[in-house]
Amino acid sequence: MAAKINRRKLLRTFKELAALYGPGKRERDVADYILERLDGNIPVAEDGAGDAIGGDAGNVLVKIDGRGEPILLVAHLDTVEPCVGVQPRVRNGYVYSKGDTILGADDRAAVAVLLELAEVADGLIKPRPLEILFTVAEEIGLLGAKHADYGPIVSKTAFVLDASEPPGYAVNAAPGSEIVKATFRGRAAHAGIEPEKGINAIQMAASAVAGMRLGRIDHETTANIGLISGGRATNIVSESARIEGEVRSHDASKLAAQVAHVTDVAKKAAAEFGGDVDITWEKAYFSYHLTEDAAPVALFSRAARAVRLKPKFVAGGGGSDANVFNERGIAAVVLGCGMEKPHTTEERIAVASLYKLAELATALAQTH
Ligand SMILES: [Zn+2]
Repeated sequence: MAAKINRRKLLRTFKELAALYGPGKRERDVADYILERLDGNIPVAEDGAGDAIGGDAGNVLVKIDGRGEPILLVAHLDTVEPCVGVQPRVRNGYVYSKGDTILGADDRAAVAVLLELAEVADGLIKPRPLEILFTVAEEIGLLGAKHADYGPIVSKTAFVLDASEPPGYAVNAAPGSEIVKATFRGRAAHAGIEPEKGINAIQMAASAVAGMRLGRIDHETTANIGLISGGRATNIVSESARIEGEVRSHDASKLAAQVAHVTDVAKKAAAEFGGDVDITWEKAYFSYHLTEDAAPVALFSRAARAVRLKPKFVAGGGGSDANVFNERGIAAVVLGCGMEKPHTTEERIAVASLYKLAELATALAQTH
């Protein structure tokens, strides 16, 4: 008899996991829950990512023997705020929070599925070698994936269970992203007595932002200024002002062009007012696009059909751990898990989606 994930136990596991506090860098309780459940039965190890990023838990890696090419299955342990005292409850076929917190189906639903999969792995039919990686600090910049110990990971094909589309969907393309921080510097002066001696950095920053192309640049590129700060008092010509923003594009040259545009406009605005600007860009993550013949795309398609799902592919608009794996040479797609309204207090997941995701993960482990 083939191993199957027990549905009632899966739902219980998900509710227990959802109730655990664990925002980015504070995933200790969630990591311990997994370590205690698997301890002594299945090889499981925690890496040093927690120390590297200033968190209280590392990534947890579970290895399961099998035959054929190994695959990496990934879910992240952290959730966004507000996540204190989550009380998951089932109503009309959906799991909700009480309404004053997120539910955390993103990504604890996937954590529950992969944990249950690990527990039934010895009963799977001819499974592939499985590497199940639970990452930390995904929501605050993919930090766990970026600082993971890749030494023990041998898979070249990965599935990140973390998209909000329903099971059956896979995200096979995602943009790359750059973060900008620009500090404009002018000169302070008394605003009432001798304003002509000052150079207003806030005006400089405002002029720069007003001159930038922002929002949707084209069908695969977006840009945003999301933060602005500066100044000291109403009667001081502001000496310094700071803006922060981002650019995303599925196309590397369009990304570079928009980065150059933002830099250029900021410098011109500073020069126009006789001040200057300090601009730093930081790569947040790289873009990827996997075609039909890529291993995770082909394998996902076969596994989806095996559980009566029609495989569908979409381009994502954001970053996930898959961006990091693809950059490192591990071909990765993101699988739809069916969480709805993630990152809000109305977040929910259909119990049926949770069960379907479990079937799909089991099929991935057994499809060759
Ligand atoms: Zn997520």
